[in-house]
Amino acid sequence: MEFGTKHRRRNRHIEIDCPYPSSLQFYSTPPNGYISLMDFDDLAVERLKVLRTVERVNLSGQVKNSDDWVIKLYDDFNKNKYFVARTEKISDNKRDEAEAARRRDHISHFILRLAYCRTEELRRWFILHETDLFKARFLHVSKSNQDNIRTFMSQNNLNFTPMTTGEVSSEKENLVSGTYNMGSGDLQERTFFKVPFTEALELVKARKVFVKGGFAYVPDTDLVTLVTTSFRAHLSQALAQTNRALPQLDDDERLVRMLQDFDKRYTGSDYTEKKKGQGHVITPAMIDQLASKSFPLCMRQLNDVLRTSHHLKHGGRLTYGLFLKAAGLSLEDALHFWRSHFTKVMEIDKFEKEYAYGIRYNYGKEGKRTDYTPYSCVKIITSSLGPGDAHGCPFKHTDASMLKHKLLGYGVSQQAIGEIMELASKSHYQIACQRYWEATHNATLDSGINHPNQFFEESQKFLNGDMPSSQGKRPSQVKTNRVVYSAQSTQSSQSTQSCTQSTPDMSQNNDESHFGDLDSDLLAQYMDSQESS
Ligand code: SF4
Repeated sequence: MEFGTKHRRRNRHIEIDCPYPSSLQFYSTPPNGYISLMDFDDLAVERLKVLRTVERVNLSGQVKNSDDWVIKLYDDFNKNKYFVARTEKISDNKRDEAEAARRRDHISHFILRLAYCRTEELRRWFILHETDLFKARFLHVSKSNQDNIRTFMSQNNLNFTPMTTGEVSSEKENLVSGTYNMGSGDLQERTFFKVPFTEALELVKARKVFVKGGFAYVPDTDLVTLVTTSFRAHLSQALAQTNRALPQLDDDERLVRMLQDFDKRYTGSDYTEKKKGQGHVITPAMIDQLASKSFPLCMRQLNDVLRTSHHLKHGGRLTYGLFLKAAGLSLEDALHFWRSHFTKVMEIDKFEKEYAYGIRYNYGKEGKRTDYTPYSCVKIITSSLGPGDAHGCPFKHTDASMLKHKLLGYGVSQQAIGEIMELASKSHYQIACQRYWEATHNATLDSGINHPNQFFEESQKFLNGDMPSSQGKRPSQVKTNRVVYSAQSTQSSQSTQSCTQSTPDMSQNNDESHFGDLDSDLLAQYMDSQESS
């Protein structure tokens, strides 16, 4: 890839010469051509949003690989007009659009490889979510366009050898009893592939296939697992290679700046701009009531501290002040609000001299006169706190017993507290926050939480009856799907995370003899080592 200068930025057309016969890609060949820095950034952010959607849906209780999981992902992709669904539109009048989307897919994948090859933790996150994205797309395409799948398979030499009729009939009984969900009547309709068991570890670990002599016998309904295993191995290797080549990029400061901390990039709405256009207004008199009904825990905590001690340290004033500004508090009202609290513990002169400047500064009326943006969840979660600071994300920065006590005090149910505490202990702070929203609103929230002002907006929309029909339904009206997540404690460990619900009920096929002499613990260890390599 070559990168354009400022002059080239005006040219929005991405010139990449690469044929895309299928909507699915193994990303074996890097794109070659010119791209402006602006397009480079746009593409990277779009793919980051796609992968974050995959992460959010995975953690929302959907059973991975299920039809609902794929539908939920595609609903989000379509709603946000991401490239994913457009890559599959192959009718004549949409061919150009599909080609352009496939180019976006191709280039954006390689850009994110540059950003996510840097550390083990980033690589794990990227491999997990790219693999899930690939799996969802494979499942979606295989339902509607088998030609697309065939083209993809042959293009990437994924030619798994089918068992002959003779082989199938000689193993008939083993195949029926050793394959998950396989009746003897189904056997004629299925094609089986005989592959080394290492290529079907996921299926072997879940005891979904018959294994003999080091080979797994995989039905065509599980082809996606074979292809996905291959995709993950390929990507893992490619990321290691990219990491080795990375020092070559160090000379280009523009790219280094752009890719550094890319994983922490905020990808939600710009609340400063949005509020200006929408003209939401809140007043100091409304704040306490809004805090108890609609503020996220981080802001509710700041409001509580302000009400009790009538003071906040610098970080708290900045975080809460910017949040209130984006929520619709005018500068005059902000001065009035802060003054009314601070003057309970200090002289008005001191407030005017030492604190009023900072409030006007937040509104762009002092100093650099920048209209500052409120902090996103990522910024708040990754901030470091000193003694006496009240800002920060309570799901991360508050001691577990205090957090539990606080949630109890806010009337959150025991069951919801259990879920929230578990999510927080596994570093899923934003998902814990989403559960908190759901528990306090007695409703579901599909969009996840990535900004305190988004939390507030979603709450206000819900309470004012202004929420799309797909969201905000009372739990009794919607199919809830609570899950217990596997015991992984850090974000980096998400690569091995799975929902217990995704494990099929194998009681009917739980006969150890079908797995020959393969030890299931050894298999699990082998799989883990494959995933972490
Ligand atoms: Fe606030 Fe975001 Fe933490 Fe929720 S996840 S408490 S909105 S920082």
